Amino acid sequence: MHIGADMKAKIMEDVKEAIRIFQENPERKTKFGEPIIGYADTRDPIFDMYFSRRLCNHPKNIYRPGNTVVVHFVPFAPEVTESNRTGNMPSKAWTDAFNDSMWLSMRLNGVIRESLDTIGRLSSGTNTPTDWDEELCREKWSHKLAAYAAGMGEFGPAGCLKTEKGFAGRFGSIITDGIYAEPFKMRSNEELEGIYQKIQRQYCQKGTDGVICGEEMISTCPAKAISKDGIDRRVCQAHCKTIDSYIPSPEVCGKCFFYETL
Ligand code: SF4
Repeated sequence: MHIGADMKAKIMEDVKEAIRIFQENPERKTKFGEPIIGYADTRDPIFDMYFSRRLCNHPKNIYRPGNTVVVHFVPFAPEVTESNRTGNMPSKAWTDAFNDSMWLSMRLNGVIRESLDTIGRLSSGTNTPTDWDEELCREKWSHKLAAYAAGMGEFGPAGCLKTEKGFAGRFGSIITDGIYAEPFKMRSNEELEGIYQKIQRQYCQKGTDGVICGEEMISTCPAKAISKDGIDRRVCQAHCKTIDSYIPSPEVCGKCFFYETL
């Protein structure tokens, strides 16, 4: 049996039930798909690399006794994703899904916390919904980088994460003292540097070696933040701020997420 298999099964069951109940509320317009839940060991040196490269806070810096980051991803229904493929502004369905899923994500953290509590495990939230650093053009804590550490997908343009259930959806996370992640790989500094460079390339971060953006992706950006050599995050952020002044994240726009990194 795998590490913490019973607890993981309970968490999955409780999360699915919470999503079902959430969708019964007539005020919630968005339909969601089946969730994915990943587990990352906070001692994995990939988190040290994120922290030292100023990509993301360290889970141990948020909650010292935490050993595992539990990451959840709830995909939007396919029609929500498709509704945002074209046009300069986010579709109404996309914006509704962004807002609905924020509430759902907070609820799922509560549900996971209750599941962990049944066996006396401690837990801590990882962020607040408006956790955004405009200076660094990123969230202070990134659920997606934790999801990447948990092996839940590969990055794409502007930092979207492409999971087995697509890029469109809501990530959330919670940290617990329980040990549930599979053993992590020890990596050399060179390997960690390689991972950092790969992530920057997948983000299409302007100024990173090896980034080439295609014409179609360049022309899809309403902010003109994308050029052949990458995405200017400041220009992207300025545009996203016109859509959501509290969370000027690429998530609120998402037009370039449909493209693959070349
Ligand atoms: S403004 Fe939209 S399309 Fe342009 S880079 Fe940002 S998220 Fe992508």
